Amino acid sequence: MYDHPSFDKHERVVFAHDAASGLRAIVAVHSTARGPGAGGCRFWHYDSTNAALADALRLSRGMSYKNAMAGLPLGGGKAVVMLDPERPKTPAMLEAFGRYVESLQGEYITAEDVGASVADMEIVAGQTRYVSGLPRTAVSSDGNPSPKTALGVYLGIKAAVKFKLNKDQLRDLTVAVQGLGGVGYELCKLLAADGAKLRVADVREAVTQKAAAQFDAVVSTPDQILFERADVLAPCALGAIFDATSIPKLQTSIVAGAANNQLATAQDGARLHAAGVLYAPDYVINAGGIISCGREYLGGATAASIDAEIHRIPARLTEIFARSGATGRPTSELADEMARQLLAEAR
Ligand code: NAD
Repeated sequence: MYDHPSFDKHERVVFAHDAASGLRAIVAVHSTARGPGAGGCRFWHYDSTNAALADALRLSRGMSYKNAMAGLPLGGGKAVVMLDPERPKTPAMLEAFGRYVESLQGEYITAEDVGASVADMEIVAGQTRYVSGLPRTAVSSDGNPSPKTALGVYLGIKAAVKFKLNKDQLRDLTVAVQGLGGVGYELCKLLAADGAKLRVADVREAVTQKAAAQFDAVVSTPDQILFERADVLAPCALGAIFDATSIPKLQTSIVAGAANNQLATAQDGARLHAAGVLYAPDYVINAGGIISCGREYLGGATAASIDAEIHRIPARLTEIFARSGATGRPTSELADEMARQLLAEAR
């Protein structure tokens, strides 16, 4: 593992196995320099253990960067649970996962990620107190972080549009949204309410039809959505979508969306920059959910103070955009540099 290309001096990586429930999980804690390693748990069908490990390593580092850039007193961690047809997600598996989280004694704090629901986290919470994204707390009505993430992405898109296109309004601009899940669909609501024209795609046809009816969205295909002509492209599905093959085919000047790890490699941030695309670093623009879950876990926040924190995302992005404009360097590099600096200071 120490030679793995995504290994980045992670403090701890735990391989969890529970024969009774079929749980196979990897918990990666990248850094606790700023606080306990916080980040959601992804339930996914991986092609190999190596692919799951790569995801856990990359996502947990991303959480260190995200939490640092969001100004949260939290480090970075992430869990992935490897599902397959013989090992579907069950309450017993969620309980086993919760026991592993508990065994880490607060070094890792879990929450929802792709494939996990609020109901799942309630089951996990039966086994551990190191969990957030729960309903009926003082600051979150239903525990679901997705609408908070969507709000941050929406505000970030507005900041990017102001910087790149010098427009204060989204009215009549076209936004292509890839993925209409928890975040993507909520984002469409906000964009449509602001008068943006939507192009959408999802592998689930029913949800694209719903968006077409509700938002007058034009339905694209999963293969084509990244390459639609649009003012803004908002990736809200999975990661590693921008690489040497996809970037030359983009027909947008702004990439600003929720998906984690959008860049296949670090060089792809430079490729986007060279192609004249303003890239809103994913872990800066998509921090709304962790701001909400993190504050819920840490306590002492109110719904209004969380909302105010999410409203600081656009200013953070604008600072990165301005530095990029002034130095001619990619936004991705500048954001990484700022995040690493914050971690180094905390250490
Ligand atoms: P989700 O599982 O609810 O939604 C993902 C959607 O993408 C689903 O509707 C799925 O059908 C669709 N999809 C999958 N593959 C696709 C493809 N090839 N083309 C088009 N659509 C496809 O997940 P989510 O919670 O909405 O999260 C979306 C992304 O944002 C993920 O990368 C996640 O890690 C990231 N993110 C989410 C949050 C949050 O608060 N939920 C916070 C930060 C980052």
